[in-house]
Amino acid sequence: MNILLVGRHHGRARMLVPGKQAVVAVVIALASAVGGAAWGGYQLALQQVAEGDAETESHLVSRWRTRLVETRERLANVEERAEHEIDALTRRLGEIQARALRVDALGQNLVAAADMGDQEFNFDAAPAMGGPEAELSGENQSLADLEDQIDALDSRLRSREKQLALLDRLIANREINNQREPDGRPVSWGWTSSPYGYRTDPFTGRRAWHTGVDVAGRDGGDVVAVGAGVVTAAKQKGGYGYFVEIDHGDGLQTRYAHAKELLVSKGDIVEKGQQIAVMGSTGRSTGPHVHFEVVRNGNRQDPKDFM
Ligand SMILES: [Zn+2]
Repeated sequence: MNILLVGRHHGRARMLVPGKQAVVAVVIALASAVGGAAWGGYQLALQQVAEGDAETESHLVSRWRTRLVETRERLANVEERAEHEIDALTRRLGEIQARALRVDALGQNLVAAADMGDQEFNFDAAPAMGGPEAELSGENQSLADLEDQIDALDSRLRSREKQLALLDRLIANREINNQREPDGRPVSWGWTSSPYGYRTDPFTGRRAWHTGVDVAGRDGGDVVAVGAGVVTAAKQKGGYGYFVEIDHGDGLQTRYAHAKELLVSKGDIVEKGQQIAVMGSTGRSTGPHVHFEVVRNGNRQDPKDFM
């Protein structure tokens, strides 16, 4: 092995021929240098790897931290939104409760106006919960509380709906009954000229049973239905002259006799107070009047009780 040495100052190379020992020493030196470098590099590499891991870990932690902060913010947003929604729901609930209270007040007025027993129509029952104002002023409520209140309100409104429907039907029926119930006089103008019961017959002068009430008026005056019903007869009928019979249901009928002219026909539906005939003096009559009869279950009644 030859070692070429290049001198800095001398400008020319010198060839050395080292001895065997020198060569061994150089080889050992070189080997140790390379080995040291490799070891150092390995150590450095290890260190770098360790540092790299540490770097990754701290990066992850910071990412987690960021994620956590974001999640917390999101949660806070959700909570805030939920609070807003609960507040909105609570306000809405308050409005509905106020409306329910107004419905109750309306129901009470109806019951009072219709003069119905308030046992079955108890609209002034205490609400299942406090007023809306108190609820709004406090902390916002839990969703479970709200759901409970909404359920309670819902069932309360349902029961009110049922009550109001029933009340409506009863009032409508009573309206019809009121309409059907014979009540009032069979003329818009006139006076009672002969009552129901025994009287002296105007034709024979003998004591006789008068089956109705005579209401005198002017010729051409109107004869009106005393209740709503169905016309079961509208014809000329012997001593009754021109005659109208109205069925009011429940076995009740009214009869109007001695008309000058009939304004309804059999089968017509008439309203209470509707003109059904023109006053006259047809049949067994001494002057313009209406002979008015009330028949209940086939028996004549004193019309006075219905007038
Ligand atoms: Zn009569």
